[in-house]
Amino acid sequence: MFFSRIKNLLGALKPCGQVLLYHRVSPTLSDPQLLAVSPLCFAEQMAYLSRNAVPMALTDMVKAAIEGTLPRRAVAVTFDDGYADNYHYAKPILEKAGVPATVFAVSSAVSAQTEFWWDAIERALLGQNGSLTLQLDLAGESRTWVLSGDPGAYPEWTVMDSFDPTPRHTAYRDIMPLVKPLTPGERSTVLTSIQNQTGVDAGPTEDRCPMTESELRSLVESGLIDVGAHTVSHPQLSGLSMEEQAAQISGSRGCLEAIVGREITTFAYPYGTKVDYTTQSVDSVKHAGFTLACSNFPGCVLNRRVDAFEVPRYLVRESPLSTFRANFEARMRGAK
Ligand SMILES: [Zn+2]
Repeated sequence: MFFSRIKNLLGALKPCGQVLLYHRVSPTLSDPQLLAVSPLCFAEQMAYLSRNAVPMALTDMVKAAIEGTLPRRAVAVTFDDGYADNYHYAKPILEKAGVPATVFAVSSAVSAQTEFWWDAIERALLGQNGSLTLQLDLAGESRTWVLSGDPGAYPEWTVMDSFDPTPRHTAYRDIMPLVKPLTPGERSTVLTSIQNQTGVDAGPTEDRCPMTESELRSLVESGLIDVGAHTVSHPQLSGLSMEEQAAQISGSRGCLEAIVGREITTFAYPYGTKVDYTTQSVDSVKHAGFTLACSNFPGCVLNRRVDAFEVPRYLVRESPLSTFRANFEARMRGAK
């Protein structure tokens, strides 16, 4: 008890910069991957940070940490993927609270308005009811799933739930991790096959759109929100060759720079855990001219101890403000 109090006290004195990771800000009902935070919840969180922390632009926070001048209670807000709801819901909330943010956008999703693969699979498997047999060739193996049931009766189901209410949910839970490591070409083939067999049109739907090019430009022009790159088509980089990784990493930078008319200096690794990218990915990010890259594992940004090419982040889920506050303050004390 005594030592944990001393640890908390020391933690409170040591600046611990927190980079928060969001994906969507949306009132959506169905969210099996837990990617969305409701606008009300997000507004409460940003108001809390505005009053009780030192919100900073991500690049400013990492620069301050490198120089050893990180303020106590520094926080930076980031979004991965580049959903249009970041523009429609998050931007006005960030502006009202005066909180800067960085949006890491998937460049081909913006330029071609393509649906994110996880949304396409969700819509095909959980957005419909009825029965059919789905056959897919995955990793050289033919697999079949019998799809049945009405997932619409369970809109609040997520992959964190320990049960699958219908065989469609079981198929969704099985197929998602099989598709994630595929190369973009293989993934595209599987998605087309799923869409053909289930009769679902290619998306995106209105509530799952990526930002348009003009929306992305508006973010940058706001002066409060920065844009970073998140590859061309959101592959798991660790499964690609060096050449494919370089094309995904530098290609997204070039595409986004052409869209927003400014230099893009920040990057976020898709999925972002230690198994999702390699040292080659990090080298490729440096070689492409980025000055900062974000990962997706928890940790504080500490003075003079930050790796600017693997910046840790805390994933934020929908939660009551009391939970958000408790987590934020525990990390600030070094207790979490
Ligand atoms: Zn992502």
